[in-house]
Amino acid sequence: MEPAPRRTHDYAPAARSLVTSTLVLGLLATLAYWAWRQPFMIHPRTLWELSRMSPPAALPVPVEGVSTEAVADTWGAARGSTRSHEGVDIFAPRGTPVRSATRGVVSSIRESGLGGKQVWVLGPGMERHYYAHLDDWAEGLDEQDVVQAGDTLGYVGTSGNARGTPPHLHYGIYGSQGAADPLPRLRAAAQQPES
Ligand SMILES: [Zn+2]
Repeated sequence: MEPAPRRTHDYAPAARSLVTSTLVLGLLATLAYWAWRQPFMIHPRTLWELSRMSPPAALPVPVEGVSTEAVADTWGAARGSTRSHEGVDIFAPRGTPVRSATRGVVSSIRESGLGGKQVWVLGPGMERHYYAHLDDWAEGLDEQDVVQAGDTLGYVGTSGNARGTPPHLHYGIYGSQGAADPLPRLRAAAQQPES
């Protein structure tokens, strides 16, 4: 009986280490995926996803019960001698819910200057959506909250320089090119067939 041919290389340790590294990598990937899906990661995850999205071409009117036809084109209208109107005014009874036009992250909730009580939402394509002259903010809404389109941000009012005017939401969009007129996008949404 001949002795078994002598192996010149023992592959077992290499194979074992390959299997071990594959398992470790797999475990790390699973762990990373699990962490990415956790509630505490919703903020960075949403920001990442928003940054990869295009600015929406169509947007719903962000005031409950108001149709696009009721929104006047006041983009660029003179406001005093130095300013022009960088948005649309959406008139509705005081207290009508203001709903986020997009998914996004609430970047600021504050009361200041011309806009009065206002909410800023960072939306798809990193555009900043500005909701101003609110009567009040939605209860429990906080900065850094992730919102979905349709979530209540606040209520129509006359805060800021809207005092003395009929209650309305001033809605503005600011992108990388500066202020963008929301109205064509509201009209685009109105032209889409009902789903
Ligand atoms: Zn306005």
